[in-house]
Amino acid sequence: MRIDLHTHSTASDGTDTPAQLVRNAAAAGLDVVALTDHDTTRGYAEAVAALAGLDRGLTLVTGAELSCRLDGVGLHMLAYLFDPDEPELARERELVRDDRVPRAKAMIGKLRELGVPVTWEQVARIAGDGSVGRPHIAEALVELGVVPTVSDAFTPDWLGDGGRAYAEKHELDPFDAIRLVKAAGGVTVFAHPAAVKRGQVVPESAIAALAAAGLDGIEADHMDHDPATRTRLHGLAEDLGLLATGSSDYHGSRKTCVLGEFTTDPEIYGEITRRATGAFPVPGAGGRAGA
Ligand SMILES: [Zn+2]
Ligand SMILES: [Zn+2]
Repeated sequence: MRIDLHTHSTASDGTDTPAQLVRNAAAAGLDVVALTDHDTTRGYAEAVAALAGLDRGLTLVTGAELSCRLDGVGLHMLAYLFDPDEPELARERELVRDDRVPRAKAMIGKLRELGVPVTWEQVARIAGDGSVGRPHIAEALVELGVVPTVSDAFTPDWLGDGGRAYAEKHELDPFDAIRLVKAAGGVTVFAHPAAVKRGQVVPESAIAALAAAGLDGIEADHMDHDPATRTRLHGLAEDLGLLATGSSDYHGSRKTCVLGEFTTDPEIYGEITRRATGAFPVPGAGGRAGA
């Protein structure tokens, strides 16, 4: 059973529509895929509808990746199987999303001050229907020949946390995120907690504090963790009593990773579905991979 618990669609900064993502997940041989767009659940309906057209079983796990900040360090919290209509968490997602356009415009302004001829029109075209984010601006920088790849834009020189063209946005305190997601019946997994190439990461002591506050798991297997880091994170999860997941963080053609590049152990996935009460995995055609 192949389980990928972290993907993005055009509802945020991926390049596959939610329906294409579901079809590509089935074609990639996945049995379970989680849709975890940044701070939004608006891809759900299209993804669920696309399950009906599949010729093999694929189970959809609904989720989101929440933008958080702790002691000045940005971090991402994956939230699974929460009730998307629970008002308090929905309001927080809205606050983050409402901030995306002014924030993107602020970063474009800083880039222009640095002499980069990027425009809002260019970034808006790249973002299309998706909620605009740093990867869209990064792609504009690639188009303009400023950097060779999207990841090269996520550095202190450009759009990395605290970088020359970086602008802050509304973010959740991760302790609040854990509390809100739990109150909405969901499960939390700290995304790529040691992805040092994205910028500063929180210390292990902070992960321990989050664990004590009810964090369910950490994403140990991720493309931004080298093998030694993955081993260390599996050990940390064991020490702290956390679930250790693995996922691709697929963004379609915007990033190089492929669906199922890293996967989650079926027992860990089973535990996530047992803990969740806000929503249930949606079995697709065949449905043999259901919880
Ligand atoms: Zn992330
Ligand atoms: Zn992600």
